[in-house]
This record gives sequence, C-alpha cells and structure tokens, in this order.
Amino acid sequence: MRAVVFNEFGAPDVLQVGDVDRPEPGPDDVLVRIGAAGICYHDVLSRGGKIPGKPGRILGHEIAGEIVAAGTNVAPERIGERVVLYQRLFCGTCRNCLNGRQDLCRNGRVLGEQGWGGYAEFACVPARNAIVVPDGVDIAAAALAVCPIGTSVRAALGIAQTEPGQVVLITGAGGGLGLHQIQVAKSVQARVIAVTSSADKTGIVREAGADEIIVSPDLKFSGEVWRRTGKRGVDVVLENVVTGTFGESLRSCAQLATVVVLGNIGARPVELDPGLVIVRRIRIAGSGNATFKDVRMALHLLATKAVKPFIGRVLSFPQAAEGHALMEQRAVSGRVVLQGW
Ligand SMILES: [Zn+2]
Ligand SMILES: [Zn+2]
Repeated sequence: MRAVVFNEFGAPDVLQVGDVDRPEPGPDDVLVRIGAAGICYHDVLSRGGKIPGKPGRILGHEIAGEIVAAGTNVAPERIGERVVLYQRLFCGTCRNCLNGRQDLCRNGRVLGEQGWGGYAEFACVPARNAIVVPDGVDIAAAALAVCPIGTSVRAALGIAQTEPGQVVLITGAGGGLGLHQIQVAKSVQARVIAVTSSADKTGIVREAGADEIIVSPDLKFSGEVWRRTGKRGVDVVLENVVTGTFGESLRSCAQLATVVVLGNIGARPVELDPGLVIVRRIRIAGSGNATFKDVRMALHLLATKAVKPFIGRVLSFPQAAEGHALMEQRAVSGRVVLQGW
C-alpha cells in the first residue's frame, strides 16, 4: 500500500511517499481504508525528532475511514462501517483501563508512534478501537473527533466539568484546540471569554461562538477579564498557552475556579503565586488526550452540529510535507486534513 514515511528526522521534506506492506488483521482486528487523517502538531514534533520515538514509521493518530476486512473473532457485519480510530491501543485490564481511563493505559501504544499511523492507505487496529461514526458526520470531521475535539471535551467537560452559566476563559483561543473548546463550552451554555494575542484571529474566534474576545498582544488580560465579569472572575480557565499567560490566568480566576493546563508552548517552568491559589481556592489540573467516552461525546456534538469542525486546509496524502510546513509556519487556522491520493 502507499504510505507517507520518513526515514530520518528533519524538515518537512523528509516525509516521502513509499510502498509498505499492507497490514494483515489478526483475529481481533479490523482493517480500515483510511478516508481522512488529521495533521496534529504532535506529528510535526515527532518528525522533527523533538519527542521520543524513531524514524521509519507512519505518523498520524487522527484517523477515520471504512472497515474493509475483519478478523475471525470480529462480527462480519462490521465490514462497511464508517469509523474513527481511538488513538491509543490499550490493554483493557490495567487499573486505568478498568477505570475507563484508556488514555492512561499503563501498557498502551499510540497510533502513529508505536502503532500503525494515519498517513497511509490502510491501518489495522483491534476492532474495539474502531468507533462508529454517526450518519451525517463526514469522514474528515470524524478524523477530528479524537483530537482536537475529544481533547477539548476532556478539558472542558471531563476535567473542568463546566456547567451552564459558568464563565470560561480560553487562552490561545484562535488555535486548533481553542476554536473547538469555545464550541464545546458553548454546548453546555457557558459564557466564553476568548483571549488571543493576534487581532487577525478575532473573526474566526467570533465564528466559533465566543461571547467576548480580548485581543491582548502583551498578554496582560486579567484587568480586562475582571472588568468584563463585574470583578467576579471566571469559573474555568482552559490554558492552551501557559508560558507568559499563567499568572494572568490565575489573576482572572473567581473563587473556586478550575484552571486546566493544556499548553506547554515555552516548555519551561512558570511562576505560581501560592497566596492567590489559596485565597481563591483555585484548583489547577492537567489534561490530555480524550477517553473513549470523550470521543463518543465529540461525535455526538458533531452529529448535532453543536460543534463545527474547523478544517483550515485539505491536502492529498502525498502533500503531507506541505501540510507540516504550513503547521510550522502557523499559516493555517484550524486543522490540516489529508484526504485522497
Ligand atoms: Zn492530535
Ligand atoms: Zn490498560
């Protein structure tokens, strides 16, 4: 089968179309003809050798397509299903899996890292990893259900447990995560205050449904948040940036607020004012990949049109290198999705 592979770490052009053996489904597996694969910033870092892993593999963990073959233990009726692939191959028996936290499986492997990736014609996964896509959700949108939409569900609904009427502050609101988080928070009737450092993003942030937008090139936004909340502060912060924003996010908090940490843009420690955290009883929580339940919720939000997928560019699979270059240059708002050969 055709696949986009890379045999060394480096610039986007290390991604090349090659021929690799098509995977054969084992007894519990399904073979999926890939219809769409999202390009995640994680893939860009993997290709550049910035996160652990080896070259010589197929990248991509945002994968949707159609089941075309199934192993002997899988119901043959599943052939023909449109599916999105849960990105982590999990054991199902460790304490995290048994708690419904497959995202933290202690024996897990991630598609595109240690498992088959999405930049290919086919992928092979255990049948339980293939989640049915509802009618009316197209295959490119489905590819975004795991990440970034599922990741947004995890942060806004899973970790922060955002409730109707609460005020949610979103930093880096014009990015791929932020644009989906705005919609997920709006799906439970929260009020969203979006912060972006660039005035160019206000149009798309408004389109995503933010109630208020603060353009803050110097990242000093807490005074404005205070003013817009009647000196009350926000109940939830979804922190996609952290570096250069964390102190302002804490200062924007109401009492008993939850700050969800997702971003690590600067990849270095940030300062924390313990007095502020104690006085306001602020909860600070890390968040990451979607659980199974989050992916189902993401698909539901897509099917009901509560969330619209922000797809900035559709490229063919052989144009994967161009997609990576666009991501590195931050030249696209929303996801870059690969479709077609
Ligand atoms: Zn991703
Ligand atoms: Zn496990």
